[in-house]
Amino acid sequence: MRILLVEDDERIARKVQAALEGAGYAVDRVTDGETAWFRGDTEEYDLAVLDLGLPKLDGLSVLKKWRSGQRDFPVLILTARGAWSERVEGIDAGADDYLTKPFAMEELLARVRALLRRAAGRASAVLRIGAVTLDTRQMRVLVDEAPLSLSPLEYRALSYLMHHAGRVVPPTELMEHLYAHDHDRDPNAVEVLVGRLRRKLRVELIETRRGFGYLVADPNAA
Ligand code: CA
Repeated sequence: MRILLVEDDERIARKVQAALEGAGYAVDRVTDGETAWFRGDTEEYDLAVLDLGLPKLDGLSVLKKWRSGQRDFPVLILTARGAWSERVEGIDAGADDYLTKPFAMEELLARVRALLRRAAGRASAVLRIGAVTLDTRQMRVLVDEAPLSLSPLEYRALSYLMHHAGRVVPPTELMEHLYAHDHDRDPNAVEVLVGRLRRKLRVELIETRRGFGYLVADPNAA
């Protein structure tokens, strides 16, 4: 999962970025509204954390421009304490949730998890498919109830595929959601990564559809 973090306050931005990365997400951080709008418009994100008070273009305008351009990833806005009218305007402009500064990092992470689940149409923080359990609160993976040790990148790939169970995910899409903006992207690396993930899992979970991509079967499908 890949997150766009838009925050011009260096101190807050650093903390939020560290917390999100620690929770297993790839994070792109930008500090002004114009860059934020452009990135959200041209790159693939699973979610954006958007401060409203920004240089060049304010957060509310950024959000409106994304939504009018059919960019529909979940957006969590950060607002100043007491600014209730900002929150109302933000939600009306298409924000999915808000947090008032100052906030606890644990709350931010919980809201991010909930928004990502909702976007994937899932209600629980724990995804279970076949013998594999993915606990998004603890970044833990169990296979047949036994803990499995994965690298952050392996976890991110598994999490993305399990959140999109029932749909074939092309390698290019998976790649877009694994790496931050400035990272080298190599389609072969994705194949190698999925191969390694399969060997570690040791159970049939990720199917390859030749020429199309990867599929984790939806456990709820008939
Ligand atoms: Ca600000």
